[in-house]
Amino acid sequence: MPELLRPLIAGNWKMNGLEAQLGEAESIAAALKSEGARARVALCPPATLLSRMADRLKGGAVEIGAQDISAEPSGAYTGDISAAMVRDAGGVLVILGHSERRTLHGEDDALVARKVEAALAGGLEPIVCVGETLDERKAGQAEAVVRGQVAGSLPRALQGRVFSVAYEPVWAIGTGLTPTSDEIAAMHAAIRAALVDRLGESGRRAPILYGGSVKPANAAEILALPEVGGALVGGASLNAADFLPIVRAV
Ligand code: PEP
Repeated sequence: MPELLRPLIAGNWKMNGLEAQLGEAESIAAALKSEGARARVALCPPATLLSRMADRLKGGAVEIGAQDISAEPSGAYTGDISAAMVRDAGGVLVILGHSERRTLHGEDDALVARKVEAALAGGLEPIVCVGETLDERKAGQAEAVVRGQVAGSLPRALQGRVFSVAYEPVWAIGTGLTPTSDEIAAMHAAIRAALVDRLGESGRRAPILYGGSVKPANAAEILALPEVGGALVGGASLNAADFLPIVRAV
């Protein structure tokens, strides 16, 4: 089996963060500089902070990402930002298909797949999110839903490219609830199989991140599970005191 890419711990600041919070990002970068990390580490601030965070952390180990991009390269799309704009601001990654985009902005698999293609064309590394709702899990459909999202959201253009998938059960995001270790391991195995089915060798190498209420207290157990190649972290990425123990747990 080909070697998996290095694990990735990515922080999603969502619609949180003003200039004053950049000090937290600087504390994270300073700690990584002195102690190193087994994982790659990324922070995805709101678009307004992208270039300032990238400038302040330049030359360090923290990679900067966006939380979304347009599927279009440029034009009359008021309020949207393109892959090239993110690159221009210093970003190298982008979260796509987050459940908050899928639910609050009506993004479906087909649109997410087009955004992934736009990210690749613009030189950004996509982190593609999938995950079932609580009703879908209760109905015994969790794996089928997630396999469908993998098939629909991950275009074949990802073959030969660097990317990751984030499994984020919608009911675990921001709730303090997490699936059991067995449930996470089973879903990550199902995602790996779906990735290989869809993308061949490239699907074997991509890290599969877990996301949903990852905290310092549960990170080590989750990150040690088979096929868990890192974490996508929301609330606990907003401050260095919570985020650094998660990075150290890899
Ligand atoms: C997220 O929104 O990607 C997330 C995982 O949030 P939280 O860690 O706060 O549950």
